[in-house]
Amino acid sequence: MDHFLYRNGELHAEDVAIREIAAEVGTPFYVYSAATLERHFRVFDEALSPNPHLVCFAVKSNSNVAVLRVLAKLGAGMDVVSGGEYRRALAAGVPGEKIVFSGVGKTREEMAFVLEHGVRQFNVESEPELLVLSEVAASMGKVAPITLRVNPDVDAKTHEKISTGKSENKFGIPIAKAREIYKMAAGLPGIDVVGVDMHIGSQLTDLAPFEEAYTKMRALALALREDGHNIRRLDLGGGLGIPYTRSNEAPPLPAEYGAMVKRVLGDLGCELEIEPGRLISGNAGLLVSSVIYVKEGEGRDFLILDAAMNDLVRPSMYGAHHDIIPVIEAEAGTEPQPFDVVGPVCETGDTFAKARALPALQPEDLVAFRSAGAYGAVMASEYNTRPLIPEVMVSGDQFAVIRARPTFDEILARDTIPQWL
Ligand SMILES: *Cc1c(COP(=O)(O)O)cnc(C)c1O
Repeated sequence: MDHFLYRNGELHAEDVAIREIAAEVGTPFYVYSAATLERHFRVFDEALSPNPHLVCFAVKSNSNVAVLRVLAKLGAGMDVVSGGEYRRALAAGVPGEKIVFSGVGKTREEMAFVLEHGVRQFNVESEPELLVLSEVAASMGKVAPITLRVNPDVDAKTHEKISTGKSENKFGIPIAKAREIYKMAAGLPGIDVVGVDMHIGSQLTDLAPFEEAYTKMRALALALREDGHNIRRLDLGGGLGIPYTRSNEAPPLPAEYGAMVKRVLGDLGCELEIEPGRLISGNAGLLVSSVIYVKEGEGRDFLILDAAMNDLVRPSMYGAHHDIIPVIEAEAGTEPQPFDVVGPVCETGDTFAKARALPALQPEDLVAFRSAGAYGAVMASEYNTRPLIPEVMVSGDQFAVIRARPTFDEILARDTIPQWL
């Protein structure tokens, strides 16, 4: 459910016409709905109630500080995977005690910065990381609260590039070694063991792999308690998928996910933490683009847009599908035509969709990519020296640019020619 609907034949973000934003900021741009972000956060928050819990938004899915602020105002925690994301969460007004630090390659500098400014817990992914964290914390006279990210060896049945819970993936410690490593952790001076963490992948469309993982988590938590650890927090990761097309079968709802979580883990007396990214931000954003040319090819016609793979990489990186819709609704009875939808970047991979049925479109017509709020702007680059595109936030009848398009002067000023050249 989102807040991007046609009104009087024109696509709106909440109460603002997309055309109006395009006229002011130029295309391409991302636009987010504050109401959709809020709604998705609340749905998750309710799904875990009444158990003690914290919904930690996965900042990597959309890290704009204004987006984080919308969620922070509702009391959200944040899951960050770098010192940079941690700084964004702080800048959005999230207190350190609500920020979880995940990721396989935390550096000493990142650990020290985060310990200095406050952290809910580190989700530690390896023995060497544990040793370094203990050393850094102890040298600062601090104790780092940690969970160990345990790799449950379950098949998340999602795209291989976003599957993280199989034993061959780089993430976490093997579940078979968990008790041994917990024992070591408990003996370290700079470490306080608070719980267990898992994150098995992204865009999961079935509850079964989650349930398999959480069942293993339950057994492990009980075994760890037997070993004398005070296991009081369970971090369940993120990963619940969203419907990228209206025609496909919908993934499970947060309420169904929450019911399963409470059934499997609810009686352990642990605080539950989840780290949803895509499900909160994905359908809260559109990428809006203009048609540059309609080019007749052999056996197919191309719709050449001003957005490209550098702005939204998911189709070329994961073969992902995004619904593409005209901003001005097609008149009833017009027959859609198949188009290959492409961008201007000099790569064949710069293809958003093949043989996509779209109404007849002209140069300068606006189109919108749905479900572009997660892993969209955050993965953008300036490949082909195409400036990072602006991000816009809508709330009710107001909108604001929340990240401006850089000028070419700004882009060029980042390079320097050494004196000796
Ligand atoms: C990517 C990631 C998430 C969020 O995944 P979504 O599929 O966007 O919900 C949560 N936790 C960790 C550790 C991640 O790496």
